Amino acid sequence: NLILNLKNVDGIVLRTAKLTNSVISECKSLKIISRHGVGYDNVDLEYLNKNNIGLGITGTSNAISVAEHVMSMFFTITKRMNDYDQLVKSGNFKKKYDLGDFFELYNKNVLILGFGRIGQALAKRCLGFEMKVYVYDPYVKENIIKKNNCIPIEKNEAFEIADYISIHLPLNDKTRNFISEKEFGMFKKNMILVNTSRGGIINEKELYNALNEKKIFGAGLDVFETEPPRNDNPLLSLNNIVLTPHNAALTLESRKRMSIESCKNVIDFLLIKKSLNINNFVNWNFIKNYRFK
Ligand code: NAD
Repeated sequence: NLILNLKNVDGIVLRTAKLTNSVISECKSLKIISRHGVGYDNVDLEYLNKNNIGLGITGTSNAISVAEHVMSMFFTITKRMNDYDQLVKSGNFKKKYDLGDFFELYNKNVLILGFGRIGQALAKRCLGFEMKVYVYDPYVKENIIKKNNCIPIEKNEAFEIADYISIHLPLNDKTRNFISEKEFGMFKKNMILVNTSRGGIINEKELYNALNEKKIFGAGLDVFETEPPRNDNPLLSLNNIVLTPHNAALTLESRKRMSIESCKNVIDFLLIKKSLNINNFVNWNFIKNYRFK
């Protein structure tokens, strides 16, 4: 049925469903697939390149929402919002001194891993709260990091001084288990770790151990090794972690931008319009000569 509907189309706007090569091979007129979002692990890029099919994403649509989500996790954990909320609701207003310390973001060291769209949007927000912003991204030139009022740094040095770490890397062979047992041994005791990028970049078992043994202050996750996390995932039982259901990019504003941008990619591509945003095309180098000579 899917093949029947797609057989004669020139462009596809794709959300999260997997689009297999066997379906694509039946779409003889297909010229472009436009992903609603920035990840594209539900299509086979190599196959698209071989068949001269463009792959668009909505690159600029969700960075602000994800960066704001990270800030809310920083604040929720730092200020122990969930604990104090429970205190008042359970009639224990006067026990406010019993919960232990909570902190300011002011003047703290934040380490941003990955200085792409979201990492850069987060840096601006952290600078607004007068944090010191360190960046680890060997693929971005140091002068670009400095121009953004951030400090380039090597990761091992950064792991020792960071009060906050936020991850904005793609998931691949180099970044899987990027934060694991060894790294948890390097962090400050009051460090707060947030991951809104992809599950698997932090090793969940080691994260559980670190939180359970209070090796770090807290963590925030929007993404998991398995989504949804299994009911017996031990992270669900901790109270020094804040969890959200992979919804960092799903604010109303971001959803509107993603819908418009994903359709605009298709229209501009098919009509060969000058307004085409080539930065949105993952395989521009493969298809530019084929379609945009
Ligand atoms: P991006 O491609 O703009 O930036 C990624 C950055 O990581 C690049 O600057 C790149 O140089 C850097 N990088 C790559 N490998 C690295 C390595 N080994 N070490 C250090 N730096 C490395 O991506 P983005 O749009 O900023 O998205 C970042 C991540 O967030 C992606 O994994 C994406 O899938 C995820 N994401 C999640 C949500 C959500 O809803 N939670 C929404 C959007 C994006």
